[in-house]
Amino acid sequence: PHVLEARALHACYGGFTALDGVDLGLPAGRVTAVVGPNGAGKSTLFHCLAGTLRPARGSVRLAGRDITRLPAHARTRLGIARTFQQLAVFPTLTVAENVRVGAEQSRRGDPGAVERTLRLLGLDGPVRARPAAGLPTGTLRRVELARALAAGPRVLLLDEPAAGLDTAEVAALARILKALAADGTALLVVEHDLDLVADLADVVHVMTAGRIVASGPPGHVLDTV
Ligand code: ADP
Ligand code: ADP
Repeated sequence: PHVLEARALHACYGGFTALDGVDLGLPAGRVTAVVGPNGAGKSTLFHCLAGTLRPARGSVRLAGRDITRLPAHARTRLGIARTFQQLAVFPTLTVAENVRVGAEQSRRGDPGAVERTLRLLGLDGPVRARPAAGLPTGTLRRVELARALAAGPRVLLLDEPAAGLDTAEVAALARILKALAADGTALLVVEHDLDLVADLADVVHVMTAGRIVASGPPGHVLDTV
């Protein structure tokens, strides 16, 4: 069963159809990837799942509940967390304070969430007390991920999580995301780095011109991209 399920999504910008009937299910405990050329509609789909864009038609369900008309902040409270392609940490807050902001958006208060998440992402050293401003991109990506995770999400939506990371950082990220999936979280990754997708994803959906045109395990699908 899918934790998050989109059915027959259509989205338009003015008269232009950016999503033309997309069905997508995110299973618990699995990493799902969406790939495809620029302009395919990946970001638009992401926005419809995160609640930052209202589809013209179709539905989005979370554990069976219709959330199509719920805005992003309400979805966060129900257990959908996201990261941003353009990093969105609070620059004047410390690393630990940024993560606490995420924990405060949790559906159920979990007093250990901040410390556990800082440890999981290797942010529990001296860096925890540093303001986010000025930290290297790889560290900021971990802070952003930690903030999303501190809310204890059921669904984690990741927009280009490898952007700006070096090879070692991408490998570390992949290990963390696999561990989250193993823990039961449903992950969606929109990602240009096909090596990361091949390493990480259980299922890959290929989008072109607002439709999903192929789906399957990475070994079967990625050589068609
Ligand atoms: P991708 O993420 O796959 O690159 P997008 O979802 O960003 O694709 O865009 C899908 C299509 O919708 C593209 O043709 C893009 O130019 C168009 N588009 C995206 N956002 C807007 C917008 N705010 N206004 C008009 N057209 C847009
Ligand atoms: P991404 O790389 O995530 O697909 P884009 O570079 O496509 O992002 O888009 C960046 C921003 O510009 C988004 O907010 C998107 O909605 C907007 N955008 C994309 N294409 C268009 C367009 N043709 N007209 C207006 N806005 C657009």
